[in-house]
Amino acid sequence: MGTRYLFEKAIRISQRLTPPEKQRVKNLCNEIKQSQEALLDAADRAMFNCIEKCRGLCCKSLDIDSIFSLWDFIFILTLDPGRKEDIRKRLKGYSYLYLSPCPFLEGSVGPCIFRDTIKAQICVITFCANDEKIRKPINRVNTNFYKLCWLIQYLRLKRIALKMGRIFSVAGSFGR
Ligand code: SF4
Ligand code: SF4
Repeated sequence: MGTRYLFEKAIRISQRLTPPEKQRVKNLCNEIKQSQEALLDAADRAMFNCIEKCRGLCCKSLDIDSIFSLWDFIFILTLDPGRKEDIRKRLKGYSYLYLSPCPFLEGSVGPCIFRDTIKAQICVITFCANDEKIRKPINRVNTNFYKLCWLIQYLRLKRIALKMGRIFSVAGSFGR
């Protein structure tokens, strides 16, 4: 599915959450943020290669549709809601050519507009150097994103079940 579509879908999902659901999602997003912080601390050498030596080549030549998931946008919108219109504008003006600079690079060069610990999953867990020593914090980031995916699916199914329950109870009252 296209990145633009996923982004708009993430907005719709976030807007439909009730206040307690929003709080649950926010708590989990804060856990993702903490795990990204821990990974960043542990990966200083690999990060040094990305930032100083290679200067973020990965961000300058990519297929955007293979980077962002629905969960990434829900995570970013939850912790950085003020970024919504900027993201929308950038995705709208982006020509979806294979291997172009990421639309979230300032001026197509960088830095990335997202804060270091509020980034898409693939952006923080991908290193081309040996990542053996940082497997643990990488796994923690991945697990937290899976948890967010499960939570959103669970909340969606709960809403559908409630809706069906209401429909059946109304239909039942007509049948009496
Ligand atoms: S992962 Fe490798 S290729 Fe990508 S920015 Fe970092 S050092 Fe460069
Ligand atoms: S979102 Fe940021 S870190 Fe991720 S690919 Fe784009 S510029 Fe790079």
